[in-house]
Amino acid sequence: MLKPPALADFRRIVVKVGSSLLVDAAAGQLRAAWLNALAEDLAALHAGGRDLLVVSSGAIALGRSVLKLPTGPLKLEDSQAAAAVGQIALARTWSEALGTFGIAAGQVLVTLQDTEERRRYLNARNTVAKLLEWRAIPVINENDTVATTEIRYGDNDRLAARVATMASADLLILLSDVDGLYDAPPAESRNAKLIACVERITPEIEAMAGASASELARGGMQTKIEAGKIATTGGTHMVIASGALEHPLRAIAEGARCTWFLTPQNPVTSRKRWIAGSLEPRGTITIDAGAVAALRTGKSLLPAGVKRVEGAFERGDAVIVRGPDGAEIGRGLIAYDAADADKIKGRSSPDIALILGFGGRAEMIHRDDLVLGRE
Ligand code: GLU
Repeated sequence: MLKPPALADFRRIVVKVGSSLLVDAAAGQLRAAWLNALAEDLAALHAGGRDLLVVSSGAIALGRSVLKLPTGPLKLEDSQAAAAVGQIALARTWSEALGTFGIAAGQVLVTLQDTEERRRYLNARNTVAKLLEWRAIPVINENDTVATTEIRYGDNDRLAARVATMASADLLILLSDVDGLYDAPPAESRNAKLIACVERITPEIEAMAGASASELARGGMQTKIEAGKIATTGGTHMVIASGALEHPLRAIAEGARCTWFLTPQNPVTSRKRWIAGSLEPRGTITIDAGAVAALRTGKSLLPAGVKRVEGAFERGDAVIVRGPDGAEIGRGLIAYDAADADKIKGRSSPDIALILGFGGRAEMIHRDDLVLGRE
């Protein structure tokens, strides 16, 4: 079996926090001490240069307690209205907890369409990228207030996995009230063994998840396995770990019991493989020799180095990049549509807003979206 990696090995980590950890349902109160300890763990990773994203549940649970709603299942419209109240409290809580460590929190509410529809996906991805560039921590939840039954995630495990692959994170940590995947229901069988490392999600692993659904919150073990499939096929490792104790991230780093789901791919190469291999190029960008040299040293493609733009492509489409002699240099996702790309070619980045009437990205193709030949 492969040795599970250490937390320090990752550069971009998504931490999903379940409702039951944040809100003490019986007392109807936020678990403030626990949250502050988690914020301290996050701050330590942040100070070490890691990019962090939080996917936080708890809007409905907090709204319930603010509104003093009776216990028991809520109808969809009731949970939507409860989330409207609770999300304000949740965002303030995170903003204060991270603010203590000098870290800004940015609230991002997403719906299923935001991760399924390409245009909205790209927008959400850009906003998250900007927050990370500013060293803020995006705090993400489903926009429960407007999501309807047919078009909602309903559980934040799968949402967190989509967010992790969208942000090209290399690790997703699911914190909840279970400490991992067991080979039998832990409540019923004293011999149930925790699986420390899952290298591949096989039907046997899925069967274990069916048997050990033990969580009270929405996302049981089955949704966690679904999340594991999304994450690992998208190039993100995943850990299921307990948030029962304070400092749960420190505990993982110190070797606490948990289940690792390893991805066979490294996120960079799997994303780049997707760009280079699965997308039909819609156009061609010809660049000058200076730009070819810059790309080869790992830089992004700026409009200044672009000589010619051909094809009818939209923003976010794949295009072929050619050198001055016509040879293919690589492929990438372009940040402008064909008409705008043509207008800004050969121009310096600060001129973009003047030419287009809006301030787009400084790069024509960002280096994260670019695959050079033989890479
Ligand atoms: N989005 C829901 C909330 O914030 C939680 C979904 C879940 O528990 O996974 O209340």
